[in-house]
Amino acid sequence: MPDGTNQNPVPSEMASLSPGGFRTKLRARSKVWLLHVSRVAFAVAISAILNQFPFDYIESFLYDIRVRLQPSHSTSNAIATIAVDSSTVSSLGRVPNAADTLRFLNKLEASNADTIIFLLNPTEIVGSLDELRALAKRMEEMPNFYVAIDDVPLKGEKDALKLQPPFDGVKTGSAPVPVDRNIFARDDVTRRMMLAYQDAPTLLPIVASRFNQSLIAKSSEEPFARIQTRGVFDYLKSDQAFVRFSPKGTYRSQSFLDVLEQDSPQVQFSKKIVLVGRDIETTSKDYIRTPFSRDIVAMTIIEYFANAIDTLIRNDAPIRAPSWLNFILTALISYMTVLVVLTASPTRGLMILATTIVAVFVFAMIAFWGAGLWVVLAQPFLAIFICYYFFIPYRLIIENRRSWEYYQKNRLLTQVEELKTNFLSMMSHDLKTPIARIQGMTEIVGSEPNTLTPRQLEAVETIRRSSDELLEFVSGVLNLGRIESKAIQLHLQSKDVNGLVADVVQKLEYLARSKGIEIRTELEPLFSVKIDADLIRQVFSNLIENAIKYSPPKTSILVSTEERDGWIVVQVADQGVGIEESELPNIFMKFYRSRNAKASTTKGSGLGLYLAKYFVELHKGRIQVDSTPGQGSTFTVELPSA
Ligand code: ADP
Repeated sequence: MPDGTNQNPVPSEMASLSPGGFRTKLRARSKVWLLHVSRVAFAVAISAILNQFPFDYIESFLYDIRVRLQPSHSTSNAIATIAVDSSTVSSLGRVPNAADTLRFLNKLEASNADTIIFLLNPTEIVGSLDELRALAKRMEEMPNFYVAIDDVPLKGEKDALKLQPPFDGVKTGSAPVPVDRNIFARDDVTRRMMLAYQDAPTLLPIVASRFNQSLIAKSSEEPFARIQTRGVFDYLKSDQAFVRFSPKGTYRSQSFLDVLEQDSPQVQFSKKIVLVGRDIETTSKDYIRTPFSRDIVAMTIIEYFANAIDTLIRNDAPIRAPSWLNFILTALISYMTVLVVLTASPTRGLMILATTIVAVFVFAMIAFWGAGLWVVLAQPFLAIFICYYFFIPYRLIIENRRSWEYYQKNRLLTQVEELKTNFLSMMSHDLKTPIARIQGMTEIVGSEPNTLTPRQLEAVETIRRSSDELLEFVSGVLNLGRIESKAIQLHLQSKDVNGLVADVVQKLEYLARSKGIEIRTELEPLFSVKIDADLIRQVFSNLIENAIKYSPPKTSILVSTEERDGWIVVQVADQGVGIEESELPNIFMKFYRSRNAKASTTKGSGLGLYLAKYFVELHKGRIQVDSTPGQGSTFTVELPSA
């Protein structure tokens, strides 16, 4: 007898105990291990390959974002800047000449400036020879006056930074402006400063060390042997560091004219490093592009040096995170991306990756703001994209294969199901005639009770009952076949449901009485409704027969009908064995029989309720059950009354 619940697979514990199962499990486990190891190897390989390339452009871009978004930090307040600006030129009617500059320097000295860095070229200043000589003399006399020269002398080269006479006695200092023109990001932006070239310090650390003594370690032979500041790195033969830039305008320049015209000494320059330069936008040489802006005049050279010297005084140049950290971060992110791509659903995967990108960026930002730590991001971010695009096609192939397998399996199952139903229908159909013949013959034999002994009569009765059961089962299977091939058509006629119920009850009265069960009815008067009487009769018949089958002797069954909210409600309540809650959802399934039913001698196919539900739903009705094990069950059928 077909029974969907009987085909229990071998319990998994047993499968694992058998030698074959154990081996399969072992093989599966080593496969999982192999998978993990290959993913880790892939992640490490990607990280190793990516870290061979600097990706300077991308990294500089990400660096600039961090600079731009950082909260403003305080300056050392040791620097003041003065600019020959357009108002100076328009008021004087000329670019300051030798006499103007001399006057300016006198004013500046009176204001007690600590150091003066002159970013203008004195040899370009206009004036008579005497005026120029006087100016040069003044410059020589001032104790901490330096002319900044955009050049670096080679080792042993003595007069490389010397100015033309009459300024040849003026102190000069090397002050190159490193630009990422042919190196690093190649985007013409200035991010670095040069601190020393061939072991000779440039002007910046010399000046800054007056305010930050620990900056230069002096040894006996070489007075400026080592620059000791954060973030120094070797580049070719130079010591360099990144400038901790503040936004433009942080070191706001005072106009050259203002200083010139003020009579009283100006306290704002007292004890400060004063940078004097030009801001008249006549040449791009006076400006740099910064991490804040790619504009050609994004920041004056004056402000650049202010930023650079201040970075040294505050000693907060950004430090590049060690390369092993970058390697580990890249490998971790690669591994995570591979894992996400292969296991998460596409939308979730994308969300996880987006969150990772944001989280890593926020982490890098906080490290930069808080500790001046520059965590390299180009490789980790590139790793995400590379791993994603590398593994997506792989995943697609796997999914495609899986769905193809599902499709094939599904097709096979459908075919098997069809074959099964066809076979059952065919067999049932062929069985119907012999059963009818048996029933006919038993009828004939049974109609002459006098010629039979009581034992023979009993045998005839058993044959009759068995053939009834067989016929019922055969009709069930035939109905199932009709359902499956969608061959059932409703023959609707106006019918009184009460009449049908009474009919069924009367037919089953004999069966109930044989078990000592009483069937009571409470039928409220109803209007006739359009139903397929045959099908609905089968429904009621199944419900009442079940109630008799699954109830102990000497109990009663109540069949009631009523009309409620546009529905005709028929209930069959028994005082039988009831149904376990865990089984309730299954009892309307094809061939399902409860554990109790299977254990008992009560016969059945497990088709009755499946058919009942199908027939009721064909009428756009509903069927449901309430049951308490040991107390009884109530089946409710609702049919639309309209
Ligand atoms: P069957 O031929 O086994 O009676 P049904 O589809 O009619 O098949 O019923 C499915 C299962 O539901 C039965 O095996 C039985 O376990 C349970 N069942 C149905 N009606 C009742 C009832 N009135 N009381 C207890 N259990 C029932």
